[in-house]
Amino acid sequence: MALQLYNTLTRRQEEFQPADGETVRVYSCGPTVYNYVHIGNLRTFAFQDVLRRYLRECGWKLDHVMNITDVDDKIIRNAAAAGQTIFDYTAQYRKAFLEDCDTLRLERPERITPATEYIPQMVDLIGKMRDRGHTYESEGSTYFRIASFPDYGKLSRIDTHGMKAGARVDQDEYEKDDARDFALWKAAREGEPAWDSPFGRGRPGWHIECSAMAMASLGPTLDIHTGGVDLTFPHHENEIAQSEAATGKPFVRFWVHAEHLLVDGQKMSKSLGNFYTLRDLLEKGYQPEAIRFLLVSTPHRKQLNFTFDGLQGAAAAIERLRNFARRVENPYPDGRNQDVKRLADEAVEAFHAGMNDDLNTAQALAAAFDFIREVNTKIDAGKFRDGNSADAWRVLDLFDSIFDVLRSDKEGKVAEEEIERLIAQRLQARRNKDFALADQIRDQLKADGVVLEDYTGGTRWHYADG
Ligand code: AMP
Ligand code: ZN
Repeated sequence: MALQLYNTLTRRQEEFQPADGETVRVYSCGPTVYNYVHIGNLRTFAFQDVLRRYLRECGWKLDHVMNITDVDDKIIRNAAAAGQTIFDYTAQYRKAFLEDCDTLRLERPERITPATEYIPQMVDLIGKMRDRGHTYESEGSTYFRIASFPDYGKLSRIDTHGMKAGARVDQDEYEKDDARDFALWKAAREGEPAWDSPFGRGRPGWHIECSAMAMASLGPTLDIHTGGVDLTFPHHENEIAQSEAATGKPFVRFWVHAEHLLVDGQKMSKSLGNFYTLRDLLEKGYQPEAIRFLLVSTPHRKQLNFTFDGLQGAAAAIERLRNFARRVENPYPDGRNQDVKRLADEAVEAFHAGMNDDLNTAQALAAAFDFIREVNTKIDAGKFRDGNSADAWRVLDLFDSIFDVLRSDKEGKVAEEEIERLIAQRLQARRNKDFALADQIRDQLKADGVVLEDYTGGTRWHYADG
């Protein structure tokens, strides 16, 4: 069976193939960097990581683009409150976002760019819409006239009848029952960042960012566009209107949306204050792998209720996996038990069947854990052979190519206490003017992947890969 994806546009599960049969062109709405992202946001980004990995497993190449929204209403408000330019203000959260993605082992999209680097493309796109009669100006701002685009509402399936023509909305975010003509370009206001354009000095609305970046990077028709379900309206509806009004071509073949991470039945969100950042959880001592496992093991179209019990369950599952991986490495009698080989073949098939079914990670996970249980029974019964170790690894490697939790970041690393001890020893050596010993300690730590940095007043250290 080939990969099937649920498409929000058609409300059906459909077989997926890239349009050119080779490279999947994916666009993902990235974060708005006005603060640290929370693990709800990260659930959506973790889903995108699973999608990427499985598309590759299907044998396709990827060209995946993600924007980083570094100009919008919230950013302008927060930067002003902090007395910073939007560029300085967003730089810190952009960096933090990429660090969080690395911690959770989320692969980087092929291209990830701040929206403000695409202002000329946005201006160009608005010009195309204007030439085709889809825009109008009011008080220095340019709006999209939704009455000019009969398909408006096809993604979110809102009814636009009875909508008052000419009613406008200036905010980037609004609710379905507030559907109106939306701002493409907002007139410059005192104290706000602004760029020159043929429509006057101003700044882009949020929605135009994604249409412009996506089409400039990937062409007029994308294979897949992703985001959290909350973006379906108005953001994605508006992206379709802008893009298709400008090009006359379908903008996206597959719209794939991730459901929310909930806390006590409510969406985790900044505004409700019910959120944890990744940093909060790491400080509480949870392992990044457990957080990753929790986020990816519920299929993306199901809501996921976040609990600390759930996190502990994830950590326990990873321990089972790691124990199993160690166990199959033990020495066994020569030969290969055909039953174990068959179990591995079946597990690989069941894993693919789960993933092909709209990326059903829960089913894929169950295939791997059923296999582990059955093989453990074989090992207990003395029926496992040396040649079966490769069978076990076929399943583990496939599982981990998507889940990526087997390897521990701590493994093979010098423990922190040991590093501190060696740093103190090196300091003492320098005090004794035994520079050869001091250098030897530094070089040894370097060889073990620990980098020391001396500064006036002490020595800092970090692991070489992060
Ligand atoms: P934002 O930075 O608010 O634009 O959100 C970044 C991404 O996180 C978007 O794709 C949102 O749909 C998604 N998102 C926001 N809250 C949640 C949540 N509680 N669960 C899952 N995804 C979310
Ligand atoms: Zn977007």
